Amino acid sequence: ALDATWVRDHIRPIADYPQPGVTFRDITPLLGDAAAFGRAVDDLVTGFHDVEVSRVVGIESRGFILAAPVAYRLRAGFVPVRKAGKLPWAVAREEYELEYGSDKLEIHRDAIHPDEPILIVDDVLATGGTAEATAKLVEALGGRVVGIGVMIELEALGGRAKLANHRVESLTRY
Ligand code: 5GP
Repeated sequence: ALDATWVRDHIRPIADYPQPGVTFRDITPLLGDAAAFGRAVDDLVTGFHDVEVSRVVGIESRGFILAAPVAYRLRAGFVPVRKAGKLPWAVAREEYELEYGSDKLEIHRDAIHPDEPILIVDDVLATGGTAEATAKLVEALGGRVVGIGVMIELEALGGRAKLANHRVESLTRY
């Protein structure tokens, strides 16, 4: 696996955000730096150089920022997975557990066709609940999840174990 320590130089830790005891990894300094943003996108693409990808699924909302340029570079389509109620047409929905309560993600029912190879992209992998729900949506439409690519993996939260059936590539791990 890659270990791009340079990524960490562009990530700002925010103590006690969004709640006490949590350190939020703010990716906006990286996004705002031309060289770092470009390199992060390039490295996500390189991490999956050996697989064919028909479409890249981005998870609302920071996932969109990375998934769209990854899709462009792969000459793949881009598909948004959004919070419930945001997509205008017919959807498949997946409910997933949060630390407190639950949330719902949706995808357009025609966004993925049977047997298409799909890459899922997000900014941060924490507990893995968001990525797991997204993988279930892809699979509910008949797609094959060929990988899950994230910039940052928060290892203590166990996301990789939750996604044990999938290939996970992260640029850096905390
Ligand atoms: P999980 O479902 O794996 O617990 O949480 C991952 C989701 O929450 C991702 O969509 C990610 O954008 C967001 N997230 C959780 N923690 C952080 C963080 O420290 N920084 C950022 N930028 N996003 C986070």
